[in-house]
Amino acid sequence: MVLRIGVIGTGAIGQDHIHRITHSLTGGEIVAVTDVNSEQAHAVVERESLQAKVYDNGHDLIQADEVDATIVTSWGPTHEEFVLASIAAGKPVFCEKPLATTAEGCKRIVEAEMEYGKQLVQVGFMRRYDKGYRTLKQAVDNNKVGEPLMLHCAHRAPSVTNFSGDMAITDSFVHEIDVLRWLIQDDYVSTQVIQPRRTNLAEEGLQDPIIILLETKKGIRIDTEIFVNCQYGYDIQCQVVGETGIANLPEPPSLQMRSQAKLSTDILVNWKERFIEAYDVELQEWINSTVNGEVHGPSAWDGYVVAVTTDASIEAKQTGKIVPIEMPEQPAFYQDAKAEYTV
Ligand code: NAP
Repeated sequence: MVLRIGVIGTGAIGQDHIHRITHSLTGGEIVAVTDVNSEQAHAVVERESLQAKVYDNGHDLIQADEVDATIVTSWGPTHEEFVLASIAAGKPVFCEKPLATTAEGCKRIVEAEMEYGKQLVQVGFMRRYDKGYRTLKQAVDNNKVGEPLMLHCAHRAPSVTNFSGDMAITDSFVHEIDVLRWLIQDDYVSTQVIQPRRTNLAEEGLQDPIIILLETKKGIRIDTEIFVNCQYGYDIQCQVVGETGIANLPEPPSLQMRSQAKLSTDILVNWKERFIEAYDVELQEWINSTVNGEVHGPSAWDGYVVAVTTDASIEAKQTGKIVPIEMPEQPAFYQDAKAEYTV
């Protein structure tokens, strides 16, 4: 069976997902698209040679008979309404992060999905599909370093434009929140934000770098440096310190050179390049599980946890205090989510 997909939002990542589903992946076909910029939606249909109808708005697209499932890649503040509409229509939906821009909004989605009675929502946290993170998780799950005690992480980008306020948390740290909780299978209980000496190379108004300290229910301590003007490259680090050893996130493959009295390997500079394979695997697994009527990836509950942790971290940054993260118990409805992957 081919999954007939409607895409809401044909901007940067919407176009990427349309391209990969049409040219690289199997089992999915883009049959409908929409964007507030309808000229852009038409241009994408033409460029990708899609047999797809361009809808005036996301709600008509969701209702369309030929659409089996939706992908929401529009502007963040519109995600909640389109995810809720997909649930109301009983259609599976893949929503790019954020699931909603507020924790309350995420909670409304969780409640709507539970009331519908079946999981339909997957959130676009692609790091869980990265080969390196999966290798690291396999080592942790197989007790290769004993029980995790501490995680030392870093999220560095060469530079950013139009990053202000709390975007280091809302746009960068959100990925760490999701992937680290998945990696160690534990929940967060508190967050604290440290603001070191500020780089002169950040845009006016942006505190860069920051260090975020999370504590989990089991007492695991996680420190994450977010440094989005580090200049030298796009560099994601994760080290798990366990009772019997240390496991590091593998570096992306790179040619090792011995030349001019130097031993060197390249460092990537672009986030898209770093996670390009992860996006492919993520969407392929979403298509496969959706065809089977299942959700295997990050759930609406996971999106809600990220939103609550994000809000608490913003409060921690603003107040300088350790802020508790208060989450209700994960409902049984979300507990048997399957992990389907091979390394
Ligand atoms: P973008 O290039 O601005 O694309 C968003 C598109 O949605 C734009 O074409 C926008 O039109 C359109 N849009 C806005 N409101 C709409 C509506 N009501 N109905 C239909 N289309 C609407 O942004 P992007 O970089 O693709 O990001 C899209 C989402 O993906 C964001 O939430 C972002 O956080 C997320 N994202 C996730 C990752 C990841 O690593 N997982 C990476 C990149 C982006 P206008 O431009 O005319 O407003």
